[in-house]
Formats: sequence, structure tokens, C-alpha cells
Amino acid sequence: MTTDELYPAGRLDQVREAAGAAGLDAVLLTPGPDLRYVIGYDAKQLERLTCLAVPAHPDPAHPDPALFVPRLELAAARASAAGALTLEMIPWEETDDPFALVAARLGAVSAVGLSDRMWALSVLKFRDALPGARLALAGGALRTLRIRKTPAEVAALREAGAAIDRVHARVPGWLRPGLTERAVGSLITEAILAEGHATVDFVIVGSGPNAASPHHEVSDRVLAAGDVVVVDIGGTMPSGYCSDSTRTYALGAPPAEFTAYYQVLRDAQEAACAAVRPGVTAESVDAAAREPITRAGFGEAFFHRTGHGIGLEAHEDPYIVAGNREPLEPGMAFSVEPGIYPGPHGARIEDIVVCTEDGYERLNHAPRELVIVG
Ligand code: ZN
Ligand code: ZN
Ligand code: ZN
Repeated sequence: MTTDELYPAGRLDQVREAAGAAGLDAVLLTPGPDLRYVIGYDAKQLERLTCLAVPAHPDPAHPDPALFVPRLELAAARASAAGALTLEMIPWEETDDPFALVAARLGAVSAVGLSDRMWALSVLKFRDALPGARLALAGGALRTLRIRKTPAEVAALREAGAAIDRVHARVPGWLRPGLTERAVGSLITEAILAEGHATVDFVIVGSGPNAASPHHEVSDRVLAAGDVVVVDIGGTMPSGYCSDSTRTYALGAPPAEFTAYYQVLRDAQEAACAAVRPGVTAESVDAAAREPITRAGFGEAFFHRTGHGIGLEAHEDPYIVAGNREPLEPGMAFSVEPGIYPGPHGARIEDIVVCTEDGYERLNHAPRELVIVG
């Protein structure tokens, strides 16, 4: 997909309408996933304000959207923002107050949405520059757009999935008794970049007892024969879209009780994927994963949600968790990653799945059978 397909020019209008529908007069987007979603600009968050001011539709009194940028960032913004030819860019000088400039552009406003990841440094300055305006999260307005991926976004996630699958294909070659988790982690980090990611977001190599700690990263623990190793890795592609996939590996024959619950986990992950289709609730996918695990007596050992949405952020809506009664819709993309962690070992299997018109598509295809190394 091209940048224009991923970040179409019409998106700015969609955001104006979504802001109006959310009862906002404008949204103010500083560097982060919301800004990138709207204009494709991967700007750095700095103490100097970069801010896309998007007045709501359909009020004809509202001014056009404009990107306020520090003068020294103007060339980068022009080069990187999609639709840069039509979007007005307003450079501000070192001696200007950019918050006052944005406020003057907006005029009288009673409710303004700020991007969820805006620094408090900027939030408090906007609060002062927009006295009397109710400040809300822009995420409430943007979520309805971002949660349903376009075909171009799904293609970008598919590309990210294929890239992380290529890394997993290489992992068995690096899992050797005598190496530390950290050493394996640095080989994986290099491979994530070599296989096409622009950045590495996380590398979890949980061996032995560390496999039972879902967000363990790496340590100086030395891998030993008989270990089970949970490898959960992800990065961000040049497109801006993220990968995230977990496979569990065994160094030689694993303990018998592990082999038994790994099969339960494998069935649970399969059942949860198979439950995905339009109209089913997010929580019912969680329930589909949890049911076979609970039935096998490992309910207490599966103590996190089944999944999280993914896109320009590694964790975003929708969350696949009990209590989320939101119905799935075509284009929603999320992880399905049940785990069983009874200790002194554990296992997790994670794929990214997209809800399609009549079911689901997996974006990860590395083998889900236990990979026994050596
Ligand atoms: Zn996580
Ligand atoms: Zn993961
Ligand atoms: Zn995940």
C-alpha cells in the first residue's frame, strides 16, 4: 500500500465530522498515533509545540484545519505529512507563544478534544490559553475511526505480521543452553530490524520460571536444557503499523505436565480465534479462550485479558476482556493471546487477528505447535 492509501486525504474531513459528532468544537493533536493517523506525520514529541488544530464540521463558521509547527520543523513536516500540499502549515518563531496562536485560530470554543498522549506540559498551557473551554480526550472522537481498519491498514498489519513471523522462524536457531536471555534478546532485536521493522517495541524472552511472568523482558538467566521459553516480540514498521506475536519454545523435552497444558492452551487459542466474527462481543472472544482453560483446571493460571487492539499503537481499542460488550465489526484488529502460567513454567500463544465480513483472518502464521529445539 502507498502512503496515500494508508493516510488518505479525506481523513481530515472524517475527523472534523467525528469531532462534531462527539460534541467538540475542535480537536488538537500533538505528535503521537492520533496525529499520525490523521495526516501521516510521524513527528517527534518535543518541548516545542507541534499541533494539528482540527475545527469540527459542519459549522461553516469554523476555520480550516492547520498544522502549527516550530519553524525549524517545517521542512520535515512538509516532507512527511500526507496531503501536505493542501494542509495549511503555520510555522511559529522561537519568540512566539504557539498556544496563543492556536487559541487565536480556533476563536470562541466551548469544548476542545486533546490527543490522549499529549504531554501535561502542553495540556496545562492549552488550559490557560483556552479559558472557559471544556477539555476532553480527542480519543473519544477518533476511536470510532481508528478502531475499524481500512483495507490499506489491514494490509500494513499483514505486512507487520509477516515480518515478525520471519523473526520467529529464526528464533529456534538462537535458543541454546548456555546463552543468557539477554544475549538471545539482542539477536532478536537485530532481527526485528533486519526483517523490516523501523523500531523494536519490546522483546520478551522468558525462560524457565520467567516464562510464568507475562511481562518479563530479558534477564541474565542462562538458558538450560529442559527450559520452556516464552518469546513475545513486536516492533513498528515504516508504515507506522505494529507487530506483536508470541510463541513458546522448549529446549529439549519439556516436563510432562507442561506438554499437557500446552495442548489446552493451543485449543483455547484456536477456539478464541474461531469465535471471531462480526456481531459477537469482545468479551465473548475472551470467554471462548477462558472456557477450555478453566475446564482443564488452569483458570487461575490465566490471569490476563485475552487480547488488545493493535494498529498505530501496540495496545489500543478494542480490548478483548470480560466486561467489554462492544460487538466486533469488520476491520477490527486485535491480539488473541491466552496464556497459562502455573509456574515454575508457563506458556502463551499470540496471533493478531482481523475481524472480516464473515469471520476472521489471522495475520501470524508461525507454527503454533510447541517448537522443541535441540
Ligand atoms: Zn502485553
Ligand atoms: Zn505480545
Ligand atoms: Zn499482545
